[in-house]
Parts: sequence; C-alpha cells; structure tokens
Amino acid sequence: MTAKEIRQAFLDFFAAKGHTIVPSAPIVIKNDPTLMFTNAGMNQFKDIFLGEAPVKYPRVADTQRCLRVSGKHNDLEEVGIDTYHHTMFEMLGNWSFGDYFKKEAIDWSWELLTQVYKLPKDRLYVTYFEGDAKEGLEKDTETLNLWKQYVAEDHIIPGNKKDNFWEMGETGPCGPCSEIHFDSRPDNERAEVDGATLVNADHDQVIEIWNNVFMQFNRVKDGSLHPLPAKHVDTGMGFERLVRVLQGKTSNYDTDVFQGLIQFIADKSGKKYNSAAKPGDADWNAAVAMRVLADHIRAISFAIADGQLPASNKAGYVIRRILRRAIRYSYQTLGFKEPFFNELVPLLAEQFKGVFDELYSQKDFVQKVIKEEEVSFLKTLAQGIIYLENNIVGEQVWNKENKNIFPGKLAFELSDTYGFPIDLTELMTREKGWTVDMAGYEAALQEQKTRSRAATAIDTGDWTVLKNDDSVEFTGYDETESIAHIIKYRKVTAKGKEQYQIVLDKTPFYAESGGQVGDTGELVFPDGEVIHITDTKKENGLIVHFADSLPKNPNDALTAIVDAERRHNIEGNHSATHLLHAAMKQVLGSHVNQKGSLVNGEYLRFDFSHFSKVTDEEIAQIEAIVNQKVRENIQLKEERSVAYQTAIASGVTALFGEKYGEYVRVITFDDNFSKELCGGTHVKATGQIGFFKIVAESAVAAGVRRIEAITGIAAQTYINDQNALIHQLKELLKNPKDIAKSVETLLEENTRLKKEIEKSVLEKSAGLKNELAAKAENINGINFIAQRVSLPNADAVKNLAYQVKDIVENLFMVLATEIDGKPGLTVMVSENLVKEKGLNAGNIVRELAKEIQGGGGGQPFFATAGGKDASGLDRALEKARLVIS
Ligand code: ATP
Ligand code: MG
Repeated sequence: MTAKEIRQAFLDFFAAKGHTIVPSAPIVIKNDPTLMFTNAGMNQFKDIFLGEAPVKYPRVADTQRCLRVSGKHNDLEEVGIDTYHHTMFEMLGNWSFGDYFKKEAIDWSWELLTQVYKLPKDRLYVTYFEGDAKEGLEKDTETLNLWKQYVAEDHIIPGNKKDNFWEMGETGPCGPCSEIHFDSRPDNERAEVDGATLVNADHDQVIEIWNNVFMQFNRVKDGSLHPLPAKHVDTGMGFERLVRVLQGKTSNYDTDVFQGLIQFIADKSGKKYNSAAKPGDADWNAAVAMRVLADHIRAISFAIADGQLPASNKAGYVIRRILRRAIRYSYQTLGFKEPFFNELVPLLAEQFKGVFDELYSQKDFVQKVIKEEEVSFLKTLAQGIIYLENNIVGEQVWNKENKNIFPGKLAFELSDTYGFPIDLTELMTREKGWTVDMAGYEAALQEQKTRSRAATAIDTGDWTVLKNDDSVEFTGYDETESIAHIIKYRKVTAKGKEQYQIVLDKTPFYAESGGQVGDTGELVFPDGEVIHITDTKKENGLIVHFADSLPKNPNDALTAIVDAERRHNIEGNHSATHLLHAAMKQVLGSHVNQKGSLVNGEYLRFDFSHFSKVTDEEIAQIEAIVNQKVRENIQLKEERSVAYQTAIASGVTALFGEKYGEYVRVITFDDNFSKELCGGTHVKATGQIGFFKIVAESAVAAGVRRIEAITGIAAQTYINDQNALIHQLKELLKNPKDIAKSVETLLEENTRLKKEIEKSVLEKSAGLKNELAAKAENINGINFIAQRVSLPNADAVKNLAYQVKDIVENLFMVLATEIDGKPGLTVMVSENLVKEKGLNAGNIVRELAKEIQGGGGGQPFFATAGGKDASGLDRALEKARLVIS
C-alpha cells in the first residue's frame, strides 16, 4: 500500500464505523497561553473533554498534523538520529465523546491492524495499566480481558502510571491507556531476545504505533479522582510509523513518505543516502543530515502555511530555530554553500496535495519565506562556525581544568552575534564531544533580559470583584451606548504610569482584535462623573476597558458611550479593507492572502502575500474597483452565526492558520464580491466609506507586501492637501494653463543654460591656456608657471592644467584658485621632470598647502589641495619658486 492509500484506509475504516471525518486543525495554535503548536490529535477537542463545548458528533476520526518541538512534548533532539521521531508528523485518530468505550476501541484497532492492514499478529504487543496503589487506582482488568480475546498473554504487557495513565493537565479528564507496539526485527533476533522485553525500552525496531486512551476519571483540585459521567475514547496512531511497518521498512525515512525528499537531497548534494549507516560510520553524518532536512522542511512549511512566520520571539522563534538547525546541516554536513533547503517546498507541497491543501495553495509564498531566511542566516553561519571552533580550540589550550565544557558566555555571544540558537550550539558542541555550560548561558541571557525588561515592567494588581458574574455581553454590533454595571476592576502600573482596567457586564466597546483597534469613549455615572476610556482589549474572553481613573461610586449603573465619530472612521476603514482584499484578488490574482492587518480611525494597513511590487496601474485599478463598490452603496449583510462548513461552501474568504469555531460571523458586501469571516464592526452600507485612496505600497518581508490606504474625511483631507500643493505650484509658475508643460519648459531651459555655461568655460580656459604658456619662466631648464586663475569649478582647473602640459614641455606649474570662497592649489609636473629631477606634485602640493592651512595630495605629476585661508595663496605661489631655484 502507498502512504496515501494507508491514510485513506484508516479514514474509510472509521467512517464505516459511524465516525464523522473532520479536517485537521492548523498546526499553529493562537490564543492558548499553554500551547503554541498542536501536539496531539485531541488538542482541537480539548473543550469537549472539559465539558465546555457541546458534542456535535459523538464519533469522530481524522488525521491531524502535529508538531513536537517545544513544551511537554519535545522530540527535536531525537530527530534524524533515530528513525521514528519527527518534528512534524500526522496523528491518525478516532474519538468517542461519551459514546463507545474500551470494547469497541480495542476490537476496532485490532480489526484494522490485522484484517485491513494485515499486520502479522505475532509481531504485535499491547499494554494495559497495571494500577497504582498510591492513587488508589486498580489494575485495568477490563482492557486486559478484552485483549485476551485476540492476543497471546505473553504479548500483553502491564505498564505503570508513567506509560499507561494519561492526564491532560493538573486537573481534568484522565484515564488509563493501552498502547500497541510493533516488533520489526528479523526472525533470528526475535528468536534470541523476547520482543516483550523491548517494549517501551527505546529500541528502534520495537516501536509504539498506536495509543488508545480511555478517559474515565476527572481529577479535581485536591488531587482526587472522580468517575466521569460520560466516558471518552481518544486515540492516536503515528501515520509515518504505521506506513513504515506496513511497507516492511526498518526506518520511517525508507517509506514513500520521505523517500522523494531524501533522494532529491541526495542527488543535489552528490552524496549517497545510506539508511543503514551507524554512528561512527563515514556516511553517518550525511545520513543524519538528510533525515533532518527531510523532516524539518515539513515542520517549517506547515508552520508557515498555517500562519506562523519565522521571527525573533515566541512561536516564531521556535520555527526560526528549527530552520537554522536545518540550514546548518545543509551547509556544514551536506556542503550546500548557497540556499538549498527551500527547494524542497514544491516537492513537499505536491506530496500533500489533496491531504493538506493549505501548503499547495501557498507553496510559492512558503518557499520564498524560507529562502529569505536561508540567505540571511548563511551570511553569518560560516563566521559563527569559525568562532565556535576557534573557541573550542582556545578553551582546550587555555582552560585545561574545564575540559570539554563550552563556556555559557560564549554560547550566548554566538546566539547574540551570529544568531545561533542555543540548541544549535549544543548540537554542534556535542558533535565535538563537548557540552555547553547551560547555567552560564542562562545567566548571560537573564542579564540581558533584566536589562531590557526594566524598561517595560508591568505591575498588575488583583481584581476587585463587585459582581460575581463573568459572562460579558457585547452590544457593539447594534449600538454605541449601553446601560451597564462594573463587574470588576484592578490597577495596572506600566512604565511608572497608573491605569485601571474595568470589566462591564454589558458593553458596546469593541475590544482590539482581528486588526481592528479597541474603542475609546466614556463611562457616564448618574452623579455626573465621567470616566474616560482610552482603549479596550480582550483578555481570556473578557472585554477590558482601560481608564486613567476610577469612579467614586463604582457600584452605580452607568452609561457606556463609545466615541461614535472615531468608531465611524474605524468602520469605514474596516469595510474598505474587505473591499480592498476582494479587489486585490481580482487585479493581482487569487494567491493574494491576508498576512496581517491594522484598522484604526486614521487609516488602514493591509499586509498580503504577493511577489512583486504592485504597479501604479494595478493600484489605480484596485482603487477604481473599490470606489465603484463604494458608489454602489452596497448594504452590509451581517450573519452572526453561520455554520462554519456552510460558510466555507458559500465561498467566504477565511484566513489560513485561523482556527474558527463551529459557528462563524460572515460579513458580506455583495454576494458576488466580498464575503469574509470577520468579528469586526462595519459600515451599514458602503457609501459611508465616502472615498478610498491608497497612499503607500511597500515590502514588509519576503513575499509579503503592504498597502496603506485612507477613507472618508482622511481621504478628503488628503485630496485637499494635494490640491493646495498644485495651487501653490501654479502660483509659483505664474498660473500657466498647463503646469506639467510649464515645468517641462523650465527644466529644458535649465539644461540648455547649463550647457551654455560649460561651453563658455571651455572657451575661457582655451584662452587662459595660451596666456599661461606665454608667462612661463625658464629657471634652470624648467618652465615655471605660478599664477592665479579664475574658473568656476575644479574640473575646469584640472582641464586647463592638462592642456598647458600638452603645449609646454619641462613644465612645473602651480595654479592658485578661489572657488566659492575656498582657496585651492593645483600642481602639474611634466612626466620627464618627475623621473629626471625627482619632482613630486603630491609632496609639493602638501608643502605649499600649509600656506593656506590645508592639505591634499595626488599623483607625482598632478596633485591638488584645498585650504581655509585664501590670504595665503600668494605666499604659496612664491614658495613654489623655491622648489626649483
Ligand atoms: P514515543 O514514546 O514513541 O515518543 P509517545 O508516547 O510520545 O511515543 P503518544 O503521545 O502516545 O506517543 O502519541 C501517539 C502516537 O503518535 C504514538 O503512538 C506514535 O505512533 C506517534 N508519535 C508520537 N510522537 C511522535 C513523533 N515525534 N514522531 C512521529 N510519531 C510520533
Ligand atoms: Mg514521545
């Protein structure tokens, strides 16, 4: 079976058992402070397990793209060294939400593995939870007995709490789990060592392929466990591992999931991929490097496709770190001195077509981003490697007692100066048998952080709760004024400035999100007191109002009033952003996708994927379309709760990497023009936008461009200013009929006059040439000229000097000039005098320049100098005579 067929067989199998097949969630998780990347199939169902979201389908199956490079699950250091841990992998899973339990899960997993996939039963091992006396947990005999129906007892292995009891976190649903392992060793080895002893023992040929978790308890705050009313099944099977055992391979990289990439890398590097290489073999390093590249390109490409660009902090830095790790292998081990890694993207995108189309539809963008990162990292990589290697040698020589410990301070310097992430430094030192002094590194890092943090310290006080009610109603789609009460407030001090955060039970204030800034306005109290709201932000689903002061009577009912004029401008800009997005897709192509947006009361900023500068003509076309839509005065169609699938089917624009809920809000301006998933506020009809004008176009990152535009009053002011400027120009030009023509004439005249001046200077210096030649004095066989000349620029003087040299032999000439008030000296010597008499114009001019408080230099036959004191010019000319007399 091919990988594609294996994946499909899994989904078909569970679909036939009544499961709804759902799409993979994005690999990048936004708005969850505990998790940056999806690391298991169950992540997207967390709310259901916690009882916070309703069960829509009781049985679900999917293939989820996962990333295990940070936090609790971090397999990065294994990747490439072993053959079955990846950074990005697909987790096949089936779920029961309060529906079937252990029996069906076990029956079906066995049926799928042995009857559909036809895996040999004697190579399969299963585990069950052995119980834990301390927790008062009994052995999971239910699972044991279910397995006994199918599996010989010596292939059923008890496991402890660490391996066989799964918990989501400190509290919450949990329960025993049962893993399925596969032994792919050759028969002779299997005869010698019992496979059961190798399960969960890090043997690379006896690997876990599937984990079935049975959630039957809820752990509460005091640590005790309570039976769950509804029991769940959560399973995860590593797709790449499954493919490996089904294709009879001993390494995931030998399957068709990876071979295309591996062979491409091997071909391009001119090295052979040896799957069987062992540590210490000559081709071991290259084999590891090829595996790393083939693995990391998947993690990075999907992270970028799902909206996480490489960056210098947080999730973006995790991605950059992995990227740099791959680039280092590509450069140092595989010998690619030019960007290469990005070339894997098209291959990968092709491979995932029809599975995760997010990558294929953005492949050019993804490749471009990676290439740009490569170009910039390759610039410092070589120097960094030298720095590291020199320091290792240095430490060996100078610091004998600290043998093989790389100083933390140097590791920090490597990251600070050369952009080497710490794990890359660790990896590279480890390859040389060294370790990094991590404590020293942390200390250096901390020191830097403390320095920069001091400037941005924030001190957040505790909430003062007035009303025990955390459900906040947002009324701002319908009104800009609401009667409300304060639920709670607290003091926040940032940069020495005190502020208050206020939460209302009901508010028309829009909290900053989706690029739209937060509302400002007032809270008006019955006693007439007015509290000014300077900003509104979201925090864990709460809408937080920022104020400079607190009311005297915070328990009173208040009127929350949004600054309506500002909101109106914001809405114009937000709706215009939607029209702009749609118009750009028409003019530039469907590859245009939103990569960032800012909408405030003054202007709108829109970042999007596109590869070249947007031309003036394209900008004009885009503006024309948007303004046409403005004039059509299209009514806003706002649907607050549309099923996500229905919305997608109707062709709405959704953002890549955004995890939308089951129900979404759809904003439509003309069914055939702009339909977007959006939570922002909008004009009631496009006519309110007034007028749309693009004012800037620029590049922000590789493959990402930015348009800034204005609408309404701002656009009107802009046009008026432009008009005023034209008016001013007209007046300066004495009100010509055609300004452009008039400026053109002016420029032409200017050019003509310049030419005339040049010509007259030439004529003048031709006359001067003869005059000077006639003044030559013969001193000791040298024709000496020392004169003041008046010419408009240095070029003309130089020209003159060369001309005199052509007509006077044995020449030693010094010219004194004053150009724009600055004194200057020019010395010309015939070449033969340079050789025969040792005259050197450079030396001479420096000596003479002392008279005008200056300096200069040049060649032995021609040199110039400038100075400060014009009164010394005559002295300089007199001094010149001394040189030869
Ligand atoms: P292991 O002990 O092999 O690291 P695990 O206990 O971390 O596995 P689970 O968290 O139970 O694995 O994940 C479910 C399944 O996902 C595993 O049975 C395995 O097939 C697969 N899997 C886990 N981590 C990886 C990885 N880094 N690369 C590829 N597949 C993985
Ligand atoms: Mg693991």
